[in-house]
Amino acid sequence: MIDILSNNTRERDKMRVIGVIGLKNSGKTTLICDILKEIKKNNNINIAIIKHSSHDVKIDKEGTDSYKFKKYANISIISDVNRTIFFYDKMDLNEILSKLDSQLVIIEGFKEQLKKLNIPKIVMIKDGEGSELIDSHTLMVIKDMEYNIGDVVKNVLEKSIVPTYNLNCGHCGYICKEFVEKVVKGNLSWDQCVISEGLEITVNGKTIPLNPFVSNIVKNTIIGLLSSLKGVDNPESLTIKINKML
Ligand code: SF4
Repeated sequence: MIDILSNNTRERDKMRVIGVIGLKNSGKTTLICDILKEIKKNNNINIAIIKHSSHDVKIDKEGTDSYKFKKYANISIISDVNRTIFFYDKMDLNEILSKLDSQLVIIEGFKEQLKKLNIPKIVMIKDGEGSELIDSHTLMVIKDMEYNIGDVVKNVLEKSIVPTYNLNCGHCGYICKEFVEKVVKGNLSWDQCVISEGLEITVNGKTIPLNPFVSNIVKNTIIGLLSSLKGVDNPESLTIKINKML
């Protein structure tokens, strides 16, 4: 599949991700609800929440986490021990992310998979417990629910990243893990990863990294070919899907 976005729509359309982790009852869901409320005050962005649960879950009943998230998020997905709600089979985080096209995805839990996929995270500490979760991809540590929501949202919007899926293409000058460490420290910006560029090519479900030079050649060639067709007028996004190669 080939997805083409013009540069001026890149920031608006590229899906970016961030995690919130902490021990049980450390306030993760409350923080996420506060983030959602604050972002929705000033931005009309499409947000999805993915929550990991270690027990069977009931959705959309008053008082449940899915009920709270639904008020502000466009999609909320809960993955419990046996299944991923909204999907029929249990999926890992990588698969869930590949099905989404929200502009921002906030992931609650999934600490091992966040680490594996190099996704930056906020770590919640309660009564001094949970500090073992802090690592080089931690962009913020919140102790005993003391936070300024404006600062939290600023960090979320600046330091959430496009999922790099450990492609390790090296175009940013680093491997993905190092790149995210630098984004978290504020030394690099998320859009310096080639995956944030306007052209995305997926072959058999796997994203193929392209450097900006090749990306521009392919993008301009396809746009040039298609713009002469009837009905193609200033496209904001363009997807070409080839299901079977002949
Ligand atoms: S450009 Fe992106 S995908 Fe490539 S190594 Fe850097 S962070 Fe990873």
